Amino acid sequence: MPEKVCPVCGRSSNEVEFVDRFCRDCFIKYKGIAKIPDKVEFTYCNICGSYKYLGQWVSGLNSLEETLDSFLRIYVTEKMRPVNPIKEIYIKNIEFMESNQNFVNARITIEGIYNNLVLKEDKLLSIQLNKTICPICSSIKTQRGYNAIIQIRGYLGKIPPDLYAEVKREITDIMNRSRGEIIKVEEMKNNGIDLYIRDHSYARSLALKFKQEYMAKTIETYKLIGVNKDGSRKSRLYISVRIGELYH
Ligand SMILES: [Zn+2]
Ligand SMILES: [Zn+2]
Repeated sequence: MPEKVCPVCGRSSNEVEFVDRFCRDCFIKYKGIAKIPDKVEFTYCNICGSYKYLGQWVSGLNSLEETLDSFLRIYVTEKMRPVNPIKEIYIKNIEFMESNQNFVNARITIEGIYNNLVLKEDKLLSIQLNKTICPICSSIKTQRGYNAIIQIRGYLGKIPPDLYAEVKREITDIMNRSRGEIIKVEEMKNNGIDLYIRDHSYARSLALKFKQEYMAKTIETYKLIGVNKDGSRKSRLYISVRIGELYH
């Protein structure tokens, strides 16, 4: 390869690697290896920590910082574009810097690969924080969000403690997987569990699952709770699920 001389710093291709017409350092400094947005808005729920992405609410992680990190990895990866002639870029690291109630600044380290050369560039991204309450938390607050209730009870009074513990474990599991479908879980003093559920068909499929797993007996009833805007009747579905027959 013929020798190149960097037009910015004057070094030669014999002493430093080149990207295009520039030495690697000047290329990174003056052209950069990637274009990424410098601002982004982050709308999240004050109560449960979920956040809005492409119009959908997505579960948050353990802390705001963890959630932001995971959001930025998705968002920046989606938005970033390599600077010609670099083809391959990826996020190497995200570090949070100053923050206050309304914004967080992050340093995003991007790496790019060019002819076996690994190039690294730090970018600054300002994240505007919009605190709000997600639809699920607000429906819990207003108690208007559920349209079905599953009432889990024992066949003859109490549910045996082992079985009760097992059912509770399973419900926790289901809740974690089906974000938002089960709005509230209420344990009854006389040993039963009520599940407040958003949607009739989800409630039915859940009741069917309990029926099969615990050989439960289920009974569906409806209660009229109002009239929809289109004039149709609005009813709440109650499903009684009796479990524990085998234990008696
Ligand atoms: Zn140079
Ligand atoms: Zn929420």
